[in-house]
Amino acid sequence: MSIAKLARRVVRALTPYQSARRIGGQGHVWLNANEAPLAYPFTVEGSKLNRYPECQPAEVIDGYAAYAGVNPSQVLVSRGADEAIELLIRTFCEAGQDQILICPPTYGMYAISAETCGVGIVEQPLTASRQPDWPAITDRLSDVKLVFLCSPNNPTGDLVGHEGLTALLEAARDRAIIVVDEAYIEFCPEASVVDLIAQYPNLVVTRTLSKAFALAGIRCGFTLANAEVIAMLAKVIAPYPIPEPIAQIAAQALSPMGLELMEERVLELNRQKARFKAELATLPCVQEVFEDKGNFVLVRFTDGAAVFAAMKAAGIILRDFSSKPGLEHCIRVTVGYQNEMDAVLAVLRDQPQASV
Ligand SMILES: *Cc1c(COP(=O)(O)O)cnc(C)c1O
Repeated sequence: MSIAKLARRVVRALTPYQSARRIGGQGHVWLNANEAPLAYPFTVEGSKLNRYPECQPAEVIDGYAAYAGVNPSQVLVSRGADEAIELLIRTFCEAGQDQILICPPTYGMYAISAETCGVGIVEQPLTASRQPDWPAITDRLSDVKLVFLCSPNNPTGDLVGHEGLTALLEAARDRAIIVVDEAYIEFCPEASVVDLIAQYPNLVVTRTLSKAFALAGIRCGFTLANAEVIAMLAKVIAPYPIPEPIAQIAAQALSPMGLELMEERVLELNRQKARFKAELATLPCVQEVFEDKGNFVLVRFTDGAAVFAAMKAAGIILRDFSSKPGLEHCIRVTVGYQNEMDAVLAVLRDQPQASV
């Protein structure tokens, strides 16, 4: 007997999210967490650190609203997009009663957050063409409060189809909230659905500074939605969620200079991604290359375990998805700079030609 028996039943049963940092690894090329390859310098000024920070720092909210093309009343800043996911569940789902809907394979934190909150999970797998199963989701709308879609989807890289989404938003009016997770949208900004917020009170878009903005270390994410939704979330969020130094850094990242640096980084990473994919197409150990709308490429190898082991031996840390349904032999490679992608390609060129 231990103190653990005092914990909630759902917590005792919980397998925590296997974050890249938790899994760890040994190596010099880190392409397992969809982070940006390099950090950029920021300045932090300490004269206000004796005071509690603002709950929703105006500079950050205004900066993100201007960047995203929405009104400041339609923006909430949180401790990463992960906190936004949990806040949505805590705000809209009754524990022990309500359910969320997810479309696996997709980002793992929707399910983990639901579990820790005692909220049920309806799984409606992606179709063979890796789209949300629109008719099946529509059929389940009466059973769920929140539908989580991810566009570009982590780990498959696909965008959510616009027509299917608008039809679902229409069907779900007054019934369920549709969340579109745009953690990677900077790599294909034209695909954002933020413009639909004006028409649909039940649309929520989540964003982050962790990927294209190269700031995974500061834990800063955003929720974009109509002011009514934002006001509900703001009732639930912690009183001081954004430490003052984080607000200062986020404001710099959202300045004209910061945005310019981000856009240059996206251009370069998209260039590296195209080059990497072209090389992959020539390699016999590669069976399938998935969509590439984010800063990562999911690849199915003829022998995924052999490739993962060879990368590990070479000090290259990737993310193994082979245990996920439908993703046998699949490994996700974050797109880094040329030297990193060349290191990956060198290992792949050395792979023996597997018999299929
Ligand atoms: C990385 C990621 C997040 C988490 O973003 P943070 O702001 O770092 O919490 C959310 N959703 C998806 C799909 C991600 O890949």
